[in-house]
Amino acid sequence: MSDTPFDAAAVRKKLMEVKAEMSRRVDRIHEHARDPLEADSAEQAAQLGNVAVVAALEAEAVEEIAEIDAALQRLEDGRYGICISCGEDIGAARLAARPASAECLDCAEEHSR
Ligand SMILES: [Zn+2]
Repeated sequence: MSDTPFDAAAVRKKLMEVKAEMSRRVDRIHEHARDPLEADSAEQAAQLGNVAVVAALEAEAVEEIAEIDAALQRLEDGRYGICISCGEDIGAARLAARPASAECLDCAEEHSR
């Protein structure tokens, strides 16, 4: 495995860091969610608006954690850096920007269309 275009140990470290950050975000959201709603209805509406935003942030963080876990698994299996859709190399630049990428840019764009 010496011909891999990336440093597996460095990638693992980076993925773990991002995962820890996302986990902290989810923890903070859960702490925040325990705050009781204000009695005032205008305040309540504002808080409920926040709850929706916070829920979206949490969903995003949870999804990212799942992506990172999948990337760590691919790293273990020696499939990291290979697009799960087309089997092509994802590319060092894309992996550097987004280490948990499971697809090459072409496939990712295809799916977001
Ligand atoms: Zn692809």
